[in-house]
Amino acid sequence: MLAARGLKASFFVVGEALKQHRALAERAHAEGHWIGNHTLTHPRPLGESGTEVREIQAAQAELGALAHPDRLFRPSGAGGDLAPGLLSTAAVQALIAGRFTCVLWNAVPGDWKDPDGWVDTALAQIQQQDWTLLVLHDVAGACADRLDELLQRVDAEIVQAYPPACVPIKRGAVRRPVDRYLR
Ligand SMILES: [Zn+2]
Repeated sequence: MLAARGLKASFFVVGEALKQHRALAERAHAEGHWIGNHTLTHPRPLGESGTEVREIQAAQAELGALAHPDRLFRPSGAGGDLAPGLLSTAAVQALIAGRFTCVLWNAVPGDWKDPDGWVDTALAQIQQQDWTLLVLHDVAGACADRLDELLQRVDAEIVQAYPPACVPIKRGAVRRPVDRYLR
């Protein structure tokens, strides 16, 4: 669906899932999509797992040559909340030391829990702000059935880039306060 419209996206993949679906990630990479780290086992939320450093580092090792050069990382949250516990001091330190780029979001329309309503929710979110970083999911029953409808209805330019406000850490440098994501 993305290729048919000439669109490029970012795929933040779970390290453990990559072991079973590497060919799919390799295809996405080959077609110009950016591949990022979404932890090894997807603890909810990452910052309260107690295993943050390993979650980050082991997933990056699993990505290998598929990883974007900026070492893109998206923490696993809890239902899309940008809330305390999303990160932790240990996680932030590991992201800085490993020169990662931490990518957050400003729209989570809930495709995985609202198959009938998420497209309208997403369109409303996109209309409400200048630049939306929209998080969708490829798990069964999530966005795939209605992604094409969203792409058809959306009245906004779709770019392969991130709003600066959604990138608190860029290549290991802290650009925005991260305290609000710490418990
Ligand atoms: Zn996730």
